[in-house]
Amino acid sequence: MNDHMPIYVGDKAIEEFLKFCKEKEYKKFYLIADENTYRVLGDRVLTAIKGQGWDVLSQILNPEHLHADDFSLTRVFAAYDAQPRLFVAVGSGTITDITRFTSHRSRNPFVSFPTAASVDAYTSKNAPVTVGGLKGSIYCHAPVSIFTDIATVCESPRFLTASGFGDSISKFTSSTDWKFSQLIWGCGFDDDIYRHALHAARQSADALQGILRSDPESMARLMDSQFESGFCMADFANSAPASGGEHHIAHLWEMMYHWEGRDGLFHGHAVGVATIIEAEWYERLRALSRAEAESLLNKAVVPDRAAQIKAIETHVPLIAEELVHGNPIYLQMADPALLERSRQRILEHWDEIQSLAANVPTAEQVRSWLKLLGAPTTAAELEITAEQVETAKNYGLYLRERFSMNIIRKLFGWE
Ligand SMILES: [Zn+2]
Repeated sequence: MNDHMPIYVGDKAIEEFLKFCKEKEYKKFYLIADENTYRVLGDRVLTAIKGQGWDVLSQILNPEHLHADDFSLTRVFAAYDAQPRLFVAVGSGTITDITRFTSHRSRNPFVSFPTAASVDAYTSKNAPVTVGGLKGSIYCHAPVSIFTDIATVCESPRFLTASGFGDSISKFTSSTDWKFSQLIWGCGFDDDIYRHALHAARQSADALQGILRSDPESMARLMDSQFESGFCMADFANSAPASGGEHHIAHLWEMMYHWEGRDGLFHGHAVGVATIIEAEWYERLRALSRAEAESLLNKAVVPDRAAQIKAIETHVPLIAEELVHGNPIYLQMADPALLERSRQRILEHWDEIQSLAANVPTAEQVRSWLKLLGAPTTAAELEITAEQVETAKNYGLYLRERFSMNIIRKLFGWE
């Protein structure tokens, strides 16, 4: 993998941060936190900066309905004095994204103090921000260093850890979907990054018993997995290694929440439930012989372009134009020659597909892990209806250029 920013995980995060600032001669700071993360860690970071006699501004945001949106971005800019400063994010996903965006747009570096293992985006260069009601992933920059106070992460609310765990174990399916995309569709791929993505998932799964006890060593392994997953995306300059068919289903649920003006669906919770769905398809795939797969594929029907576009416009009208414009794989397969080529490649690579599929745990295994952490395991627990599940399965596969297990199950004619 590429060289990455220094990351500290342990019980001397603030001391390490001060050492780093002295080495790099940072003397002016802008600390961004929300009221919760300020209470658990930000306060101590701010006091330590002041204790050095350094110049520091701060903006402590209200955590209620906090998003990386026009409102919070403007508040951060409003309290900023346009001087060169090291921005300091103390928080989890949203605070880090707000800081990532505002520091980038004001040409300042930033460091991150993660307060929970809830996301794999700390090391990312992209910030998902909502401006004018539209959510988009905007290219910004990565932190220059990360300082993880492990005690803070251990004491973070259990649902945040559960969400992070759900996102982390989704790398079992995402990495396999990515490899399938290379074998069947010839998509870009990197063996080393693939191994890291799979390693991240395994490391989190192996640490589960310790995570349940909030044991610092196990929580540090979960954090390491999150950083590793983020590096996979950064190194490949694309989310493919860490976001497969399960993420596409989860993304549609997240969009549905947004369209309905609802709040409170955690990314990793949605991804965890969607991983169970993909793991079920993987199980069915493993049970098939090559001859059975061939007979299913011979019966595969992909609707023509006009029929597919009409269905997309009917079921996901708000993103229909964008999806069709992206000319996704399943839409391209309306061309009989491309469908035939995919069918051939699946059968040619059948043994390899089977050995890759063996890396994905059973649905029951994923379900039991999530249950132990108190995470949702059904769409109903996410307050997603059966109809929304169907829509997300059938239209999530148009979201990205990935030959995921979801496309294979479509070809097999499975529900
Ligand atoms: Zn994710």
